[in-house]
Amino acid sequence: MALREIRTLPDPVLRKKAKKVAMVSPETRRLIDDMVETMRAAPGVGLAATQVGIGHRVIVVEYSDEPDQDPPEGSPPLPTVLYTLINPEITRASREKVTGIEACLSVPGFAGEVERNREVVVKGFNAKGSPVRIHAKGWLARIFQHEIDHINGVLFVDRAAKVWEVGSEEAKDNV
Ligand code: ZN
Repeated sequence: MALREIRTLPDPVLRKKAKKVAMVSPETRRLIDDMVETMRAAPGVGLAATQVGIGHRVIVVEYSDEPDQDPPEGSPPLPTVLYTLINPEITRASREKVTGIEACLSVPGFAGEVERNREVVVKGFNAKGSPVRIHAKGWLARIFQHEIDHINGVLFVDRAAKVWEVGSEEAKDNV
């Protein structure tokens, strides 16, 4: 495994629509391993292949599921789950939208207010090439929408109602 360089604006690779992966090769698996390591080192909660300069439809997300209700006070934090998705697609999205504040490893120093679907169903393939279907809510749903935007060459600043500069210490949950 190796860390890869995270591309930042105005790198043109961030604006290209990524190509579908036709076959999960050893090279794809190496890319996924490197993306997971790069995401964790950043640190971030999601990363798209385009962010490391590779025009393939691959994303990784590591986050805890949104609980249906607030856990009682003093409960341990929910465990995080690592999702690896090849050729991900949003197949369903709730009509209900929510506004949240996003930041992006490829747009360092900025945050923005972005409206997203509250829930989405994402389909794709895992690193073994098996089909995967995820029903994501809340922040997890937001992260998937942000990452799938990346492989379509779209950045959160394109969708944000407002964008502002932040100190690096304020940035959290980068994707
Ligand atoms: Zn991002």
